[in-house]
Amino acid sequence: MENVGVFDLIERMAALLRSEERKKCTSLGLQTVHLQALNYVSRCNKYSDTPAALSNFLGMTRGTVSQTLSLLEKKGYLKKTSDTTDRRVVHLALLPGGSAILEQAKPAELFCQAATLLKQNDTLDYETVYANTLTALQKANRSHSFGLCKTCRYFTTTADGFVCGLTKEPLTQSDSEKICQEHAVA
Ligand code: SF4
Repeated sequence: MENVGVFDLIERMAALLRSEERKKCTSLGLQTVHLQALNYVSRCNKYSDTPAALSNFLGMTRGTVSQTLSLLEKKGYLKKTSDTTDRRVVHLALLPGGSAILEQAKPAELFCQAATLLKQNDTLDYETVYANTLTALQKANRSHSFGLCKTCRYFTTTADGFVCGLTKEPLTQSDSEKICQEHAVA
């Protein structure tokens, strides 16, 4: 019974947010998937800025994502660059036009108002509750967590700065605030 209640709540919240997102997209002449792709590229780290990672994040086929990326590229919102060591790998990066569209589109006003109301009640840490719920859903679905780098179990702080324990490469402060397809829950 409790599970049904939680599912119902999440479904209704998601429907409200999607509805707001659709309204924004219509006014900008975009589909929601276009905005979701731009938002992802603006937040992902260097290990996750590929069409394959975006497909995993969106839970969509490579073909659908490829069409989305072509359109965004044509509109001048993002660019593709071949990897310097492996030419088969393509990296995605936001262009100024894409950043400007994102600025206009996010965050949803409805979400901001709800978040403000929630923060007024400080007896419960809602961010932790929702983060834990999302993690549980992702584990049940066996999907990538795409969590923030600084919350990953491989994120390491050394005397010289931050290091990724998985790739052994140094990470910047900015890297630590990005999302990663290799993220593992601590
Ligand atoms: S520490 Fe984790 S999240 Fe950060 S880059 Fe490494 S694998 Fe990705």
